[in-house]
Amino acid sequence: MFQLLLICPILFSFLYQLSFVNNLNLTYFKLQSRCDYCYQRLKFKEMVPVLSFLLQKGKTKCCHRKLSYCYLVGEILAIFPAFFALQYTPMLTIDFTSFLLIYLFLLVFALYDLATLSIPIHLLFIFTICICILVPMHFISFFTISSLLHLIYWFSNKAIGYGDILLFSILSLALPFIIFSYLFLFTFIIGGGYALLQLTCFKNSKQIVPLIPFIFLAYNLINILQQYTYYGGIFI
Ligand SMILES: [Zn+2]
Repeated sequence: MFQLLLICPILFSFLYQLSFVNNLNLTYFKLQSRCDYCYQRLKFKEMVPVLSFLLQKGKTKCCHRKLSYCYLVGEILAIFPAFFALQYTPMLTIDFTSFLLIYLFLLVFALYDLATLSIPIHLLFIFTICICILVPMHFISFFTISSLLHLIYWFSNKAIGYGDILLFSILSLALPFIIFSYLFLFTFIIGGGYALLQLTCFKNSKQIVPLIPFIFLAYNLINILQQYTYYGGIFI
């Protein structure tokens, strides 16, 4: 558990920084961490999750530029799976490793979506490779669901972004059908509720709602429900 408390925020920071890399090649993985702005190498004390951000008052030490709050929020949220580690109830075929992998990537995608209203395709590719290696796959539901999602996109491409379609398709490969169905349902219930609230409170708003934060929320809601209401292998 204590290792996870340290490793998860570090992994999040690495993945979040990686999501903004434009020209990714293998040499990136050998490089030492650098400042987002002036590319100066970071010292060890500038890389300690959460604490570095707080001690540096949200600014880089080298060039005194403002750090994105997504780092702080993401590093704090990345700590939570460590508390589940000891008493994790597997969600059907989703063991803790799979849960953690999907959690961390969804967290990165959600914060990236909030910041840019898009999804980093190269990171989505890396996510797919990790799933193929680490997670039991569900090919039949993947082919069925991704075909249906592409059909939905074909007929109403302004209602949902193609990045969201790709992410849902990959999740359908990693998650059992029943869990994916709940994820899909809860995403649109929570997202729809928020869109309605936005429409009511800000009638002039342009109604661009990033979907991935709601996928992340739905994923957590399902996991919490699963931990507390587990009856005979299926949650209620
Ligand atoms: Zn700098």
